[in-house]
Amino acid sequence: MGAKSIAVLTSGGDAPGMNAAVRAVVRSALSFDMKVYGVMRGYNGLLNGDVKEMSMRSVSDIMQHGGTALFTARSPEFNTAEGVKKAADKCRAMGIEGVVVIGGDGSFRGARDLCGEGISCIGVPGTIDNDIACTDYTIGYDTALNTAMEMIDRIRDTTESHDRCSVVEVMGRRCGDIALHTSIAVGAMATLVPEVPYDFQRDIVDRMKLAQSTGKRHYIIVVAEGVGHTQDLAEKIQEATGIETRATILGHVQRGGSPTLRDRVVASRMGYHAVELLYNGASNRVVALKGETIVDYDITEALDMPRVFDENLYRISARLSI
Ligand code: ADP
Repeated sequence: MGAKSIAVLTSGGDAPGMNAAVRAVVRSALSFDMKVYGVMRGYNGLLNGDVKEMSMRSVSDIMQHGGTALFTARSPEFNTAEGVKKAADKCRAMGIEGVVVIGGDGSFRGARDLCGEGISCIGVPGTIDNDIACTDYTIGYDTALNTAMEMIDRIRDTTESHDRCSVVEVMGRRCGDIALHTSIAVGAMATLVPEVPYDFQRDIVDRMKLAQSTGKRHYIIVVAEGVGHTQDLAEKIQEATGIETRATILGHVQRGGSPTLRDRVVASRMGYHAVELLYNGASNRVVALKGETIVDYDITEALDMPRVFDENLYRISARLSI
């Protein structure tokens, strides 16, 4: 038999579109005649009993806003065996049989541990970084891409006016997806990602000189957060080429803003699927997008999957961007 009473929480880094997922979980659960609770500030809310019963109207007018209406947190206490056990006992005391966890890999490890203590959990991938191996897409990724693209378009205006080089660092933790896709979209001259080693002379200096010989006077280089050292790189480029070079780290601007249509729709589909799984008695599953289809995997298997970087797209990007 499936869960009759469930909860939803957002955990780890926030991402635009999380609200659409929360809304979908709440509305789907109510449509299946389940009781549904919103848990405040991630796993901390379970540990502190900071939960509220949700109605259809509890999730009105949140979908178009970035961030998460349930707030989020990192919970050191939950990251211990005693913490997980305490959270499971709190769930039982509140009659919560299942939890939908919207977050990243770390949050899914927590969900797996909570399953081990007898609470049914379903993970929904929410992070701007697109760094979860089992899914082609994570909630927030599209909004972050569009924000980064718009910001770099603006940087290009001033870079062009001054005949400069701009080295722009985008987010992604250890994943180069934001860098690669943004780079293609803004026509950057070079892209540095943690998945592919680069050679400073060959991949930057020689490319700049080649581009210069064809009449190019300004340059955008996109660097993934996982490569880092963006300020140092800008200084090195200026030294090696004589071209005035500036570093910009986009930072948290990429985490905010109204979610794009794609993020809202994928989040809504994933939220619904998570509730359907709990309704049907499933547990320890993570929802994923494969191509355009919503699927689900065992959380433990999903956490062990290797992440695949699109090296072919990376090569195409290098051909287009000179
Ligand atoms: P994300 O979900 O974005 O990857 P974190 O890695 O910060 O973010 O994880 C969010 C929270 O999930 C942590 O603060 C912790 O409470 C919980 N968590 C992370 N890893 C584990 C783990 N191995 N076991 C139990 N809980 C974990």
